[in-house]
Amino acid sequence: MDENLICNQNSTLLDALDAINKNAKGVVFIVDDSDRLVNILTDGDARRALLAGGQLQDPINPFIEGKKFVYCKRSDPVKEILKKLGQKISILPVVDNDNKVVDYYEYHRDLKVPIAAPNLAGNEFKYLTDAFLSSWISSAGPYITQFENDFANYVGTIKGAACANGTVALHLALMALGVGPGDEVIVPDLTFAATINAVLYVGATPVLVDIDKDSWCIDPAQIAKHITNRTKAVIVVHLFGQACDMSAIDDLRKKHGFYIVEDCAQAHGAEYKGQRVGSFGDISCFSFFGNKIITTGEGGMCLTNNADWDASMRVLRDHGMNKTRRYWHDVVGYNYRMTNLQAAIGVAQLERISENLAHRSAIEQQYCASLANIKGLECQQFLPDRTKVVWLLAVLVPVDKRDDILAAIKEAGIDARPFFYPLSTMPIYQQYKTENSVSLDVSSRGINLPGYEFVDVADIVRQQL
Ligand SMILES: *Cc1c(COP(=O)(O)O)cnc(C)c1O
Repeated sequence: MDENLICNQNSTLLDALDAINKNAKGVVFIVDDSDRLVNILTDGDARRALLAGGQLQDPINPFIEGKKFVYCKRSDPVKEILKKLGQKISILPVVDNDNKVVDYYEYHRDLKVPIAAPNLAGNEFKYLTDAFLSSWISSAGPYITQFENDFANYVGTIKGAACANGTVALHLALMALGVGPGDEVIVPDLTFAATINAVLYVGATPVLVDIDKDSWCIDPAQIAKHITNRTKAVIVVHLFGQACDMSAIDDLRKKHGFYIVEDCAQAHGAEYKGQRVGSFGDISCFSFFGNKIITTGEGGMCLTNNADWDASMRVLRDHGMNKTRRYWHDVVGYNYRMTNLQAAIGVAQLERISENLAHRSAIEQQYCASLANIKGLECQQFLPDRTKVVWLLAVLVPVDKRDDILAAIKEAGIDARPFFYPLSTMPIYQQYKTENSVSLDVSSRGINLPGYEFVDVADIVRQQL
């Protein structure tokens, strides 16, 4: 305890201001002769006392008499303590059974509600400890195989190859499919940069196409328009938990014979016509980064029904080493492996994915109800044939109000974010641009909110509109 945080009730206003000045917390806890908490004096209280004619040498007592104040006990539930702290009460004294100040809590205004937070309340710690104690902490071990099998089984594919993250999952997929220089790969303009970067890693040419105005996912009509005889693959991104129009895209594949790579980094468990995303593509890529729907800290997975591609990705992720002849390298490979520790967390995450998704959907319902009647605000749509999941919650607001709304939400301690920029607007990707009017519109109006916890932003949004 900083002694400058405590002042005797018989001290003068000057003493109290001196203490506040030294402790730099804007408050001082006032105690009686037995050190029991009797009140709290803020710098505002002191200023008001002086303005009302008080003198610096006057005792504090008359100025705080009967003034309400807030404190807590060490044994109070955290929830209760958090309720007391806020913008108004930034310092909360903690007293013991004799009412003596033993500690204090401090409120940190910046980002009280993060945009995403992993839920590790199941068997994560147990399996992680188990993997640790087994000493299989590197990139071999039973949890890796189990996670691969369980996850492939969950999504509905035959094979699963775990890897270091979602970005290298995309890289592995494109390499296994033989995509390289001279090939074109169609990518939606509105996605996280990793999607296009993977195309550039293999030396192929990205073709950025526009999104659909309702799903915000790649527009099949735009794919059709930009297919050439060099189109080797299309990477579809199930953006913000919404499945792409897979029937339309599959029809194009049948006609033109390109590969489909699904980027499912934001859509674990989402469905199209009752079938989970990740089971439509030639190869599908998932991310298990800390802010994704399920996480392994960092991590990724490639799913496929094709044993050859699966084998090829397993070789590429492991330095290109021959599986039967140790230290013999047939191809230039990479170290893109996942560790047994990460997979242990993944196995536990997957055990509870249904509850996780149900919880997120319930949160989304709360948002929908609270935001329903705000003119100018649009929630993400529920479209026929698709069962969306919730990654980050996503809404659109008027373009000229978006940044003010974002700032106001942030001011309230909630980590809201603007949507991704369309890739075609960034100098490094500009040369791959085709059409992007819908991407520009959606991107400029979009706000992401926490999807794992409901925060009522309706009043904040209304005030800005
Ligand atoms: C997160 C994300 C990735 C990359 O995953 P990492 O595990 O972070 O490498 C790729 N594509 C999309 C659409 C993403 O959201």
